[in-house]
Amino acid sequence: HAQFAVKRAKTSGRTELYHLRAFDIAREQFSVETELRRAIENGDMTLSYQPIWDLGSGRIVSFEALARWTNEEGVALSPNDFIPVAEESGLIVPLGRWAMEQAALTLATWDRRVGGDCGVKVAVNLSAIQLQRDRIPEMVQAALEQAGIAGSRLTLELTESAIVSDPDRISRTMMALKDLGATLAMDDFGTGYSNLAYLQKLPIDLLKIDRSFISGMLADRDKIAIVRAVLSLAQALGMQTTAEGIETNELAQTLAALGCTYGQGYLYAQPLVETDAYALLAARNS
Ligand code: C2E
Ligand code: MG
Ligand code: MG
Ligand code: MG
Repeated sequence: HAQFAVKRAKTSGRTELYHLRAFDIAREQFSVETELRRAIENGDMTLSYQPIWDLGSGRIVSFEALARWTNEEGVALSPNDFIPVAEESGLIVPLGRWAMEQAALTLATWDRRVGGDCGVKVAVNLSAIQLQRDRIPEMVQAALEQAGIAGSRLTLELTESAIVSDPDRISRTMMALKDLGATLAMDDFGTGYSNLAYLQKLPIDLLKIDRSFISGMLADRDKIAIVRAVLSLAQALGMQTTAEGIETNELAQTLAALGCTYGQGYLYAQPLVETDAYALLAARNS
């Protein structure tokens, strides 16, 4: 809570929040929660879409849907700030449902514009808390049906924290999501759980190597060593790989040479509003 109050103070320029007492921090948290609840209900949240491209061919293979929220004071809040609040308050369940529905509807819109399969998947993040509290396979299936989208058009991104909490439950959930045809990705790989046995047991298709290993990798032998090891691990297990946070051409080329499948990062595009994402897709993949 305290950390959130400080970050919020920085974005709104109200440095007095640094000196808040515990009581005030709790009140601040409560008001953020109230605002967040209202934002979900009023449709004040949006999704941005960031392309993920094939490092070999340069074609866009999918777009990751990323939540965006501009609060009533006009301050754009980072998901790194409001997702934890949503998780603590349970609002991650309606927020997560909304994101899944919206992402599926966007993909359906793009399909309609091209008059068929627009050729990309959409990737949606699932939080560990959401996985514990919601009936995820049913929720995902309902969103797909509502939009008229096949499950094979969907990638779901989970983090290692989801596995730690309840391995048996997560295993059943993941099997059910595979039955829907979805691709399952391990997000922020390398930053969480150190017991890798789960890679053998769970139906994971893709490892997303965390940005912290990718950025600055070319000047850091340890980072390169870790990235190489993850790539060879994924290859041996028959999984695909995405490198997060590619900001330079040199990084993209090196990662392609090392055998990384896909890339994501500001080099190609930042997260974009829906119309810009579609325009990029039409321009690059035509
Ligand atoms: P993530 O899933 O790892 O998403 C990638 C984050 O890296 C995004 O931050 C993206 O904007 C940022 N990024 C991408 N390329 C670059 C780059 O080249 N350089 C830098 N510096 N950053 C890059 P964002 O949008 O702020 O989202 C942060 C996190 O919030 C996400 O991390 C995800 O864990 C979470 N999140 C966002 N939307 C949702 C949602 O709808 N549901 C859930 N459960 N979590 C979400
Ligand atoms: Mg993600
Ligand atoms: Mg990630
Ligand atoms: Mg990340």
